[in-house]
Amino acid sequence: MRCLIRGGAGFIGSHLAERLLHLGHEVIAIDDLSTGSMENLSSFRFHPAFEFHGDTIFNRRLMAELVDVADIVFHLAAAVGVKRVVERPVQTIETNVDGTAVVLQLAAKKQRRLVVVSTSEVYGKSNKFPFAERDDLVLGSTYNSRWAYGCSKAIDEFLALAYYRERQLPVTIVRLFNTVGPRQTGRYGMVVPTFIRQALQQEPITVFGDGKQSRCFGYVSDVVDGFLAVAADGSTAGEIFNLGNTEEISIDDLAGRIIRFTASPSSICHIPYSEAYGPGFEDMGRRVPDISKAERWLNYRPKHGLDDILRDVIAFVRAQIGKKQAVFVAPGARQESPVLNLGMPGAGRVPLQTYSRGARELDSSHSLPARATP
Ligand code: UDP
Repeated sequence: MRCLIRGGAGFIGSHLAERLLHLGHEVIAIDDLSTGSMENLSSFRFHPAFEFHGDTIFNRRLMAELVDVADIVFHLAAAVGVKRVVERPVQTIETNVDGTAVVLQLAAKKQRRLVVVSTSEVYGKSNKFPFAERDDLVLGSTYNSRWAYGCSKAIDEFLALAYYRERQLPVTIVRLFNTVGPRQTGRYGMVVPTFIRQALQQEPITVFGDGKQSRCFGYVSDVVDGFLAVAADGSTAGEIFNLGNTEEISIDDLAGRIIRFTASPSSICHIPYSEAYGPGFEDMGRRVPDISKAERWLNYRPKHGLDDILRDVIAFVRAQIGKKQAVFVAPGARQESPVLNLGMPGAGRVPLQTYSRGARELDSSHSLPARATP
């Protein structure tokens, strides 16, 4: 199959791309690199069945061309991280709502199978636990930018289901619950990579609020299993599935466990939400998925517990810190390739032109290669 991944250079998108390639599929990824990175693609960037477009979803002509040649489209969440959402609500809302609308229109026109990735943020402040797909969504005040993310993704879901009903678009929605794993960055506020980096660098672990709030962390490869199960089952069209893990931990305990696993001398430092995210910020006290629908329908079984996940992410963050230190050790050293430095401190963003005309990449002025014979 030829699979199009919107957000293919992101943390989750790159894992999905890698798995699809491993399974023998062709992958076309489009990403504007606003939060994704070329470094995420480094292990498969030159795979003969992989093609990358450094462009935005709002390049409608390119998107139309890509949707046209794809057998299935995976539309991954656009704005990532509570920190970024609070800092840039306009971009969050416009990217989520307008970006998803474009994909839905194009997929409907060509009747392409579509998987829309949504978020457990849509459950908002609901206190009916665990969260099931048909539960009410309880969002906070519009004065509070935090809820803009959940609300914009809820609009995406409404729109996707409307396309399913009115235009017979074969679309399925998946709601993710705190997905973590290698390649996730703490830059946008995600707690696991942030705490691990702090522990490894022997800095205080910054727990926001009283630390009693809890989350359930899902491993990225388990989530990718869920995507593939959804994609393989056409009867899931018009449905929503929670994907995640049900093992719950408070943020205080998470900090303690990370300190133990890294044998770090770091202390835990509690920071008021108002200091972390600005005045009036509201957190979700708990976020626990009911995954029974995915278990029944998709035979979805998360294989990784929190301890496995933490060990894996600790190894990844340790390696990242090692790479950074290697860069700092030889600041004047010549770099072998500009790509090597992407995502490293001080590297900044490389302009799109730098890589968009590489061997396997196409920009909007190129046409796609002929479709592979199935
Ligand atoms: N959090 C924290 N310290 C940090 C980052 C996050 O205590 O440096 C908390 C955050 O307030 C939330 C939880 O960890 O209660 C999970 O945050 P994250 O941003 O990873 O995901 P969320 O579940 O909020 O979308």
